[in-house]
Amino acid sequence: MVASDADPGRPIRLFSVNSSSQGGPLVVSACLAGFKCRYDGGAKPDRDVAGLAAEGLALPLCAELMGGLPVPRPPAEIVGGDGEDVLDGHARVITRDGEDVTDAFVRGANAAAVVAAQMGCPAAVLQERSPSCGVRTIYDGTHSGKLKQGCGVLAAALRRRGIAVVTAGVARERRR
Ligand code: SF4
Repeated sequence: MVASDADPGRPIRLFSVNSSSQGGPLVVSACLAGFKCRYDGGAKPDRDVAGLAAEGLALPLCAELMGGLPVPRPPAEIVGGDGEDVLDGHARVITRDGEDVTDAFVRGANAAAVVAAQMGCPAAVLQERSPSCGVRTIYDGTHSGKLKQGCGVLAAALRRRGIAVVTAGVARERRR
């Protein structure tokens, strides 16, 4: 499940926040760690994130699976706002087939955020553009491939518990 070619130690130098400096482990999107939990049954492995997970320095979580959704599943997008609006009850998460999966997204995001807070996680490295894990950018709710500014539901839930969220790319940039 986890990439095996990571140089031991390298990810720890790349990401500025890790378990050795800030208490608990980093939360990471499970698909970035190599788990095949995406809607299409695939993963989105990131070498550095996978390396951290392999070293036991990251906690891979998938909010959508924690909310009870299966793999594979229809792709979903936030309609009427972003993750903050979903948590406030002002926006919904709708699949390409028109099914309202808001409750599962909120349940999973809150469950993952509670676990992260209880573990003392200082920050999360998340997969951009996901309706759960998006940090700054998500799809616009039309299922047409267009993007909009805003965060996913998990990112919002983590922020509300004081846990910083960042993309893998930004985490690398900050370390340079
Ligand atoms: S919810 Fe997050 S961890 Fe799960 S598949 Fe989507 S982007 Fe990856």
